[in-house]
Amino acid sequence: GASGGYPRAQATIDLDALRSNVAALRAKAPGAAFMAVVKADAYGHGMVPCARAALEAGATWLGAATPEEALALRAAGLGGRVLCWLWNPGGPWRACVEADIDVTVSAHWALAEVVAAARAAGRTARVQLKIDAGLGRNGVQPDQWPDLVRAARTAERDGLIRVTGLWAHFSCADEPGHPSVARELAVFRRALDQAAAAGLTPEVRHMANSPGTLTLPESHFDLVRPGVAMYGISPVPQLGGPADFGLRPVMTLTARLASVKRVPGGHGVSYGHRYVTAGETTLALVPVGYADGVPRHASGTGPVLVAGRRRTVAGRVAMDQFVVDLGGDAAEPGDEAVLFGPGDRGEPTAEDWARACGTIAYEIVTRIGARVPRVHT
Ligand code: PLP
Repeated sequence: GASGGYPRAQATIDLDALRSNVAALRAKAPGAAFMAVVKADAYGHGMVPCARAALEAGATWLGAATPEEALALRAAGLGGRVLCWLWNPGGPWRACVEADIDVTVSAHWALAEVVAAARAAGRTARVQLKIDAGLGRNGVQPDQWPDLVRAARTAERDGLIRVTGLWAHFSCADEPGHPSVARELAVFRRALDQAAAAGLTPEVRHMANSPGTLTLPESHFDLVRPGVAMYGISPVPQLGGPADFGLRPVMTLTARLASVKRVPGGHGVSYGHRYVTAGETTLALVPVGYADGVPRHASGTGPVLVAGRRRTVAGRVAMDQFVVDLGGDAAEPGDEAVLFGPGDRGEPTAEDWARACGTIAYEIVTRIGARVPRVHT
C-alpha cells in the first residue's frame, strides 16, 4: 500500500474485473463503439489506470465530464478519442482543441467560444452537439436545435469545426418500462433527421448510458457510453445485482482495525451516544470516517465485515473513524475490516452501503476520499 505495506485503509481496484466488464458490455452492443466513462476519477476508482485498462479491453473513446479531466487524460499520455461535455463560459477550449479532444457544444455561446478557439489555434475543432431530449439538464432545447445545427454546419463549411458526433442523455433509463425512454428516443431520432437534413455527417450518434447499454438495444446507435456498469455496479438494481448482468465489482474498500478494547455494559459509543452497549463487550475501531467518504448517514446502519461476521456501524460515523461492537468475538488491532467488495467473501457490496444510507452506489464509490490510497491490481 501507499503508506508502507500496512495501510490504514485502502481501495483495491481490480483492473481484471474492469476489463472483463468492458468485454461484457461490448458483447451487449456488438455493433457500437465503446466510450469508457471515466469522469470523477473513474467514479472514484482512479482515472488514468482505469482509462488505460478500458482501452486495453477495446474501448476506443474515453468520456470525461470536465475539460480539465479530458486534459489530464492526455497529459497522462493516453491515446484514443476523448470527449468532454461540461463547459462554462471561458473554459479551456483552445487547450482541448490543441490536445485533440472532442468537445461538446450544448448552447450557442459554446459554439461561438469553440469557433473562436479554433480560429486562434489555427486548427479544426472536433465538436459534438448535444440535445436535451427530455432530461432537463444540459443540452440545447429541441426548439433551438435546428438553429444550432445550422450554425454548426456553417462553421464546418468554413473549416473551423468538424461535427464528429450528435448525442443526448437519458433521464430514466434505469427504471424499466419508464415512458420517458421512448419519448426521449423519439426526440433524439428527430434531432438526427434534422441534422442530416442540414448536411451534418457525424461519425457517432449516441445516447446509451449503462442501463441503455444493458437493457435498451434500440438506444445503441453508433456508440455506447457506460460508466457505472464498467465498475461492476448494477445500473438497474430493480433488475438484479452485478452478477445478473455479467459484471464483477471492481472496488474493494478495506481498513485495518486501529484499536480493540473491552468496555462495560451501558457505555455510550461515539458522538452523541446514539449507541449504548447492552452488556460488557468488545469494541473495534475502524479508522475511516466521513472525510474518507464513509457517509455519516451510515451511523447505526452501515454494514461491515469484521472478525468473520457482518456488523453494523455502532453510533455515529465520525470524521476519521467509526466503531463496531464485536460482542463476544475476538479481534486484534491490525485485523482487516471489509466495508464493501464483490460480496463473495461475505462482505457487503457498494449496493448494500447505498441501501443503508438511502443513496445510490454511484455516490458511495465516487465519494471515497483522496486520503484513501487506490491500489490497482
Ligand atoms: N454519459 C453521460 C453524459 C454521463 O453524464 C454519464 C454519467 O452520469 C454517463 C454517460 C454514464 O452513466 P452511467 O454511469 O449511468 O452508465
